[in-house]
Formats: sequence, structure tokens, C-alpha cells
Amino acid sequence: LVEIREISKSYGAVQVLKGVSLDVTKGEVVAVIGRSGSGKSTLLRCVNGLEVIQAGTIRVDGVQVNDPATDLRKLRQQVGIVFQSFNLFPHLSVCDNITLAPRVVKKQAPEQAREIARDVLRRVGLEGKLDAFPSQLSGGQQQRVAIARSLAMQPKLMLFDEVTSALDPELTGEVLKVLESVAQEGMTMILVTHEMGFARRFGSRVVFMHEGRIHEEGQAAAVLAEPQTPELKTFLSAVL
Ligand code: ATP
Ligand code: MG
Repeated sequence: LVEIREISKSYGAVQVLKGVSLDVTKGEVVAVIGRSGSGKSTLLRCVNGLEVIQAGTIRVDGVQVNDPATDLRKLRQQVGIVFQSFNLFPHLSVCDNITLAPRVVKKQAPEQAREIARDVLRRVGLEGKLDAFPSQLSGGQQQRVAIARSLAMQPKLMLFDEVTSALDPELTGEVLKVLESVAQEGMTMILVTHEMGFARRFGSRVVFMHEGRIHEEGQAAAVLAEPQTPELKTFLSAVL
């Protein structure tokens, strides 16, 4: 579903991605780990067409993301992205937050959009919160609404960038549980995470980034239990 070939990305003179290649097949969950500044968020942003790359190619479901002729709005209907900060609209109800894009971009009728909102809220364990406002929800609940909002677009691929990092530890679990069930529904996911336990259980594959390159990758259990490079050993001993 995702085909990343030798991509390079620089900000000015600073090269942040240095020839990254990665394939993700349909239904696969890939966890991206690595030190701060190693290029994890940049990689996700490139997949969603939020960054211009200087070399290489990215294809999502056959569509070349880095082709100037590609309709990025269309692409982003297929590729959901959820960030650390939930970015809900505070003045809109949960229902309006979720249905805004489907109504505007997909031209869904209000009743149909509301039905879908109901369904995605159920999937994140928040049935009954349709008419709540973000300020009435906990951080974990807000993040689950942000995930629901992404699901409402019925994407083929979901990107998650440290979606639990801004949360108190007791709220992290509920969000991880939602990610788990979305994965079990068969969603293809690339997620940047510091939750190694989660990566081990659900990352079918772990990718370790170091200084703009994929330094090590493989099945989660193996990569985390038997790191091959000193860099990954150091990283793991710092986070575990
Ligand atoms: P973290 O774990 O802290 O989120 P990361 O692995 O996600 O780190 P990136 O955010 O991808 O790292 O950043 C990689 C490098 O690119 C960093 O050195 C960062 O300072 C730089 N960088 C990121 N965004 C920009 C930008 N918009 N302009 C200039 N430099 C940037
Ligand atoms: Mg980041």
C-alpha cells in the first residue's frame, strides 16, 4: 500500500531524511521509533504530502505523493494523520468536529455524516459524546475524538505521531486500546511511538530511525529483544 523509495528531505542545508526506503503492505502495522530529531515526524509528514521532498518517490495505493500533479486533497482523504496535539475545534461539538471534513470534502449529507460520526465514536468507545464539546472531555477522550475524526474519512492508511505523548499516563492506556482495535479492524497504520510495550505487541514491524536513516528494522519482538546495532541498544536502554 505504501512504497517509499530512497527519499531525501532537507530543511535548508540540514538533511533530515537521507535515503529512506520503506514498504508497508495492506493491514500492516509499522511502529517507528528513534531518538528525538531522528526524522520520524518528518517521514510521516512526507507520506501525507505535507512536506516537499528533494529526492526519491513515495507512492500510496499507486498514487505518487511527490508528483506535483497529484491532488493532495484527494490523497489526504485516503491518508489520515493524527498528531500529539489533538487539534479539535474548541467551538464545535464532537459531532461537528467529526463531520466537518466528510460534509465539506466528501459532500456527505448531514444525516449521513452524523450516522458515520455515531459509528466512529462507538469504535473509539465514546458513544454518547456526540453533542459534547471538547472542553468537556479529558485529554484521552479528546485524542480519541481526533482518531474518530480521522476514521470518519474512511482512510486506507492512518499515520499516528506520538498520539499519547501529551497525555497523563493513566489516559495513555485508553488511547492505545483504541489504536489496538483500529489495527485489529485491519487498518494499515504507521505510528511513531515511545510506547515500546505497545510496539512490541502491535507493531507487526518496528523501524528504528537514526540520524535520518532507517538504521534497523524487523519483527517487533526480535528487533526489541535483540538489537543488532549499538545505536539501537543505546536507544532501548534509555527508553525501557
Ligand atoms: P521527536 O522525537 O522530537 O518528535 P523526530 O524524530 O520526529 O523527533 P523530526 O521532527 O522529524 O524528528 O525532525 C528531524 C529534524 O528536522 C530535527 O533536527 C528538526 O530540528 C528538523 N526540523 C523539523 N521540522 C523542521 C522545519 N519545519 N524546519 C527546519 N527544521 C526542521
Ligand atoms: Mg516527532
